[in-house]
Amino acid sequence: MDRVLAKRRDPSRRVVLLEAQTIGWAASGRNGGFAEASLTHGEQNGRARWPDEMDTLDRLGSENLDALERDVTELGIDAQLERTGVLSVAYEPHQVRWLAEAEHGTFLDEPAVQAEIASPVFRAGRFVEGDSALVHPARLAAGLARAASEFGVEVFEHSAVLGLSGSGRGPVEVRVTGGRTVRTGQVALATNVFRPLLRRARLSTVPVYDYVLMTEPLTPAQRDAIGWRHRQGVSDLANQFHYSRLTADGRILYGGYDAIYHAGRRVRASYEDRESSYRTLASHFLTTYPQLEDVRFSHRWAGAIDTSTQFCAFYGLARRGRVAYAGGFTGLGVAATRFAAETMLDRLAGADTERTQLEMVRKRPLPFPPEPFAKIGIEATKWSLDRADHREGRRNLLLRTLDRLGLGFDS
Ligand SMILES: Cc1cc2nc3c(=O)[nH]c(=O)nc-3n(C[C@H](O)[C@H](O)[C@H](O)COP(=O)(O)OP(=O)(O)OC[C@H]3O[C@@H](n4cnc5c(N)ncnc54)[C@H](O)[C@@H]3O)c2cc1C
Repeated sequence: MDRVLAKRRDPSRRVVLLEAQTIGWAASGRNGGFAEASLTHGEQNGRARWPDEMDTLDRLGSENLDALERDVTELGIDAQLERTGVLSVAYEPHQVRWLAEAEHGTFLDEPAVQAEIASPVFRAGRFVEGDSALVHPARLAAGLARAASEFGVEVFEHSAVLGLSGSGRGPVEVRVTGGRTVRTGQVALATNVFRPLLRRARLSTVPVYDYVLMTEPLTPAQRDAIGWRHRQGVSDLANQFHYSRLTADGRILYGGYDAIYHAGRRVRASYEDRESSYRTLASHFLTTYPQLEDVRFSHRWAGAIDTSTQFCAFYGLARRGRVAYAGGFTGLGVAATRFAAETMLDRLAGADTERTQLEMVRKRPLPFPPEPFAKIGIEATKWSLDRADHREGRRNLLLRTLDRLGLGFDS
């Protein structure tokens, strides 16, 4: 997205995109497709961290989602974008209470939520329209790449950046596989969950694996049994939450719950093949939608999420303002990466904008600790979050301490 925006801002600028593998092979091509307006991983997280600028963040987030939708239309991208809204559902009495007390959207009691989607475990819901869109993520990524090429962006796939060098005020030298070097005045780094190219960003995130199942297209009888006429995205309120949605061709995408971290911040294709996570998801799917017990799963996949301690993106500048970076989208980057691209371009231009003035943009979150403390801390936090889910949301001493320090772990 930053490449399209860069060319749009200055068509005479030469823009080169260096991609280690192929565009859209990573999270952008395999996520749940919930494009959310929130730049802060939800209202509650944003209000707790940046209370004074939350109204601005809300407005900028909504404008960003609207702009994403406009881009999709104007660039002619067939991303199957639908603005169906999101239904948050409660399984437990304390979650019903949370939903009843929330201000945004419409509260649905048990009969009302079941009239929308017939699940015996949904005890209440809250429907929020307008703050989200559903997209086909791989089509979005491919469409943006195509648009970038049409704008004149030079796209080089299978071109991993090995490092940056160059000193003083001269060009930044970007070392690429195959002994190639790109010399440039400005660099925007968008490496997401992969090894950061700047040492200072190495402890800022941890990769967390998220797992997804996809059913075959539902038959008319299966659709009748479940309802879901309004095609809302669905998400529950547990710390270890699930998300589900209908695709354009009438399948159910069902993901979430397990959030698996491998010590040493490792990202490996073999971690995607985790039988126990898929089995757990399948059993949760059947508990949620028991009338679909005869439906078959046709696809399953996983991907790594770049989790930051503040649950949303952080921003930085290096090399005298010639290298901008953003990361830490924590499972909510479909729309937020667009905002990050605009923000990185503002900062590279040295522009003073509403975006660059945000405390959220100017301040860096606390890092995760190095190993072995990262692994130990994350496992203890996950255990505590699971316990909270089964104890009416009550948070133990560890979680309360992390809350006070503004630290956390989420997917
Ligand atoms: C299973 C799953 C479900 C998700 N669901 C949602 C969702 O429903 N809603 C939502 O908002 N978010 C979701 N997310 C998160 C979202 O997908 C990401 O936040 C977003 O796609 C990040 O986009 P990106 O372009 O920064 O990163 P990526 O899509 O990971 O792209 C980064 C690219 O950088 C390349 N790269 C890395 N290092 C180098 C290097 N040194 N040289 C050259 N290239 C390099 C990689 O090859 C990769 O292609 C989900 C993520 C996963 C894994």
